Amino acid sequence: MIPYGRQDITEEDIRHVVDVLKSDFLTQGPAIKALEQKFAAYVGSKYAVAVSSATAGLHLACMSLGLKDGDVFWTVPNSFVASANCGLYCGGTVDFVDIDPETLNMSITALSEKLIHAEKEGRLPKIVIPVHFSGRSCDMDAIYSLAEKYGFSVIEDAAHSIGASYNGKKTGACEYSDIAVFSMHPVKIITTGEGGIITTNSPDIYEKLLRLRTHGITKSPSLMTKEPDGAWYFEQLSLGYNYRMTDIQAALGVSQMDRLDDYISKRRNLVIRYNEKLRNLPLTLPSLKDLNDSSWHLYVVRLKLDEINIPHKRVFELLRDAGIGVNLHYIPIHLHPYFRELGFSRGDFPETEHYYGEAITLPLYPKLSDKDHEYICETIKGILQ
Ligand SMILES: *Cc1c(COP(=O)(O)O)cnc(C)c1O
Repeated sequence: MIPYGRQDITEEDIRHVVDVLKSDFLTQGPAIKALEQKFAAYVGSKYAVAVSSATAGLHLACMSLGLKDGDVFWTVPNSFVASANCGLYCGGTVDFVDIDPETLNMSITALSEKLIHAEKEGRLPKIVIPVHFSGRSCDMDAIYSLAEKYGFSVIEDAAHSIGASYNGKKTGACEYSDIAVFSMHPVKIITTGEGGIITTNSPDIYEKLLRLRTHGITKSPSLMTKEPDGAWYFEQLSLGYNYRMTDIQAALGVSQMDRLDDYISKRRNLVIRYNEKLRNLPLTLPSLKDLNDSSWHLYVVRLKLDEINIPHKRVFELLRDAGIGVNLHYIPIHLHPYFRELGFSRGDFPETEHYYGEAITLPLYPKLSDKDHEYICETIKGILQ
């Protein structure tokens, strides 16, 4: 089966990891700092904090912005469940903003309208979490203007968009947000096995993230409530977690970052070829408007169902049967049983639901061979023509 995404591990990566295994520190050592510094320098943020996953990172991001019981937060339904779960962990109340069918990102029109209603009802969100779907940045300028007008904080779920850009800056520079959170799961752009990285420009948020990553503990006397009892002393100031990344993982991340730009250009070239080869089929292909800015985590096509007489589900099955590991990003979050129990139902977010009935994610990763790429395109042609 050709997977829809997969990691690329080189001898150089292995050497970096083995070096850590032979060193004194497997966790809380120098590799974490090295990854954080390299990442912050790359995206252009003041701070970066490595954590055990993007899910952990999103949870800490919500905590560091003070989300608590009863506070409202919004994200999009066309995302992985982690985009919503992170605020629920804090006792927050989730709601969703529908997507724009062109970009598949949070619709600015839907957001603006929802904010007007929410203001009237006194239910404005404390945090909004836009997701840069497939690596294409949301309209952050517009979201930030609304954040200033209505007083909410912004966390970018940048799980798909390591290496993406917006308005001439890398995603994660946090010019239009408080915090950005990236994933280093193996299907994402670069990997640490499991892992996430948080960026921010706020020293206050940074301090909180560092503490919350390790149980809410501080070892710095300036933050303590009293003089240290002795050299062993530390204080727990709030309730935190063990969300640390290991140095073994961080070393892999440091090594992978050297190939990040190369990975993205390989993805981009595959996208261009997909669009060329599939252009005469009854498919809506991704727009190449943001060709050079997107990190191209996913290549998603939409079936023009009124032009073919074969159901979405069947096309998907035929591709899987042909050994092509297509996927579907995403099952709308609000339609999962857990979220239905919170009160959501079919019809709540029509653009997302409509999209879900037509979308198929095709394989896309730097080492996807020309032969496999050709085979995928020919198989789709065979099914749809
Ligand atoms: C992968 C993903 C996450 C979670 O990332 P992990 O590192 O696996 O926790 C969150 N949001 C989105 C949009 C993702 O695709």
